[in-house]
Amino acid sequence: MPQRRVAVYTGMFDPVHLGHLDIVERGSHLFDRLVNCVGINPEKQPPFFSLEERLHMLEQVTKPFGNVAVKPFTGLAVHFVKTAGAGIMLRGLRTVTDMEYEFSMSLTNQTLDAEIETVFLMSRVQYTHLSSTLIRQIASFGGDLSKFLPPAIVPLVEAKARERRAEG
Ligand code: ADP
Repeated sequence: MPQRRVAVYTGMFDPVHLGHLDIVERGSHLFDRLVNCVGINPEKQPPFFSLEERLHMLEQVTKPFGNVAVKPFTGLAVHFVKTAGAGIMLRGLRTVTDMEYEFSMSLTNQTLDAEIETVFLMSRVQYTHLSSTLIRQIASFGGDLSKFLPPAIVPLVEAKARERRAEG
């Protein structure tokens, strides 16, 4: 039986945006199965959306792709890749700055587990500027988010930004 190609795509997805979704869609065509892992990054704490909210948003927007699963993850990504029965880590690249970070991450993961390969997809040109940080900033000032987010996510981000403003 041919070996099934399973890839893992990790991130904070705080919130998921069109740049992420484009990588998920292209990954879903490249691999038999894609596991979308929503992580907890201690350096990025506290998140804008809780882990449960981020999982729910990703489930909503990845539903159209039949071969994409959404899972939470903590700890080392290479451990999670193995647990998920995968051998590939999928990453998106936006800029040269991304490359520096991704290069050292990929080399570190290679050292931790030589069997796991990292596959990079260049961001589509219309999404190269997009990041969750930028989206949170636009949301906090009440800007129009419709060009950056999947339609179902726009009201959720707007509501969260209003909630945060009310909290002071
Ligand atoms: P962000 O920087 O938007 O908070 P994450 O930390 O959730 O994103 O990143 C998860 C993965 O998605 C990483 O591989 C990252 O490089 C990729 N990614 C993030 N934004 C984009 C984008 N606009 N285009 C392509 N890939 C992206």
